[in-house]
Amino acid sequence: MSLNQQWIDRDLAVLWHPCTQMKDHERLPLIPIKRGEGVWLEDFDGKRYIDAVSSWWVNVFGHANPRINQRIKDQVDQLEHVILAGFSHAPVIELSERLVNITPQGLDRVFYADNGSSCIEVALKMSFHYWLNRGQPGKKRFVTLTNSYHGETIAAMSVGDVPLFTETYKALLLDTLKVPSPDCYLRPEGVSWEAHSRTMFQAMERTLAEHHATIAAVIIEPLIQGAGGMRMYHPVYLKLLREACDRYGVHLIHDEIAVGFGRTGTLFACEQAGIRPDFLCLSKALTGGYLPLAACLTTEDVYQAFYDDYSTLRAFLHSHSYTGNPLACAAALATLDIFEQDNVIERNQALAQRMGDATAHLASHPHVAEVRQTGMVLAIEMVKDKATRQAYPWQERRGLQVFEHALTRGALLRPLGSVVYFLPPYIITPEQIDFLAEVAAEGIDLATRERAPVSVAQGLHPNFRDPG
Ligand SMILES: *Cc1c(COP(=O)(O)O)cnc(C)c1O
Repeated sequence: MSLNQQWIDRDLAVLWHPCTQMKDHERLPLIPIKRGEGVWLEDFDGKRYIDAVSSWWVNVFGHANPRINQRIKDQVDQLEHVILAGFSHAPVIELSERLVNITPQGLDRVFYADNGSSCIEVALKMSFHYWLNRGQPGKKRFVTLTNSYHGETIAAMSVGDVPLFTETYKALLLDTLKVPSPDCYLRPEGVSWEAHSRTMFQAMERTLAEHHATIAAVIIEPLIQGAGGMRMYHPVYLKLLREACDRYGVHLIHDEIAVGFGRTGTLFACEQAGIRPDFLCLSKALTGGYLPLAACLTTEDVYQAFYDDYSTLRAFLHSHSYTGNPLACAAALATLDIFEQDNVIERNQALAQRMGDATAHLASHPHVAEVRQTGMVLAIEMVKDKATRQAYPWQERRGLQVFEHALTRGALLRPLGSVVYFLPPYIITPEQIDFLAEVAAEGIDLATRERAPVSVAQGLHPNFRDPG
């Protein structure tokens, strides 16, 4: 029995995997990973895969990055963890200073959580509590976009709108106000991203005008709706939203958990609109993809609304056991060092260009409706009918066939429904990008054939070659 198989058997006897119908693994091989290096993941039988989705969008500088490894090793000999209430430590102080420095001016306070969903809960609770402390208890609703995703805990799900994740739990969710997304995939033919984003803003304006007295905040994924299928829109929407939130006295929460740290082409997506949100939620790439950590940045105005004598009971009494964990902060500091020292944002421009060039031909594929890109995210939307953009029935799981093909070729290309996307670590090479484009094109060809063959990834594809 192969080493992989031994680990698979032990795994399936005891584990329950995230976001997975476990029965799928009766057919689909689970892949136990032994080690990682750079863009590569290697299984127990020695087969290697390019991590084209950055291990669920967290990894930016590769697996087992020597600089991040060293910083964590140094930290673990010094202090692994300490309670952050009443106590503090050097890595969390240094990290907070640096986050305040690199984010838009006016975001001067950092509150930590230990994953993205909890960070969203923090922002929602803080916004509601702010208005309560300011004598406006009626401001308690949240405005959110259709097709948005903000995490898996109940309040985070409530402000999300991807039915696959939320529909089952509808009975448990908070009541929110949903506004149609500026998603530019849905724009009429011939209309620019900017014009469409402006037009779609009218619905947001109307909602704010009508309901602002009961609204605490608008929460939004800036520029890219990630889990909703890498749907994209123009920064002008964010600018209009900032102005409207100011006019109507409503907080603006930017969920940059997926798009922060260079993913959209700027260090933070809000920079492209030249705005500052009232709450900025960061996680995922914050630690380079090493350890769970999240930061909710906010303004001095918000901070001051909670700052009072204990007996007024205005304090934000929210905590997580691992708040501000020193090892995670050390990983984040090493990650920020790399951003600072390596000219990452500029170097990414060439890589983003290469992703666009390598996949441009797919736009004319008979079952591709659109190839779209914002910075270091490129998405290819497969459809049943190119002319009408009729989607494939989700039951056909066409994206899964691309995934399976990619595995046989040595690439981890986990899709979102019928959307195949690249969201690679920034250390990927131009040649590796070309290889991914080739694998994606083959996979899309296979998956969109009239009677698509259902291939099980076993062993190496005849065309397998190690692209180095
Ligand atoms: C991943 C994600 C979250 C949730 O973060 P977790 O750490 O998975 O809880 C929230 N918002 C966005 C936009 C995300 O992509």
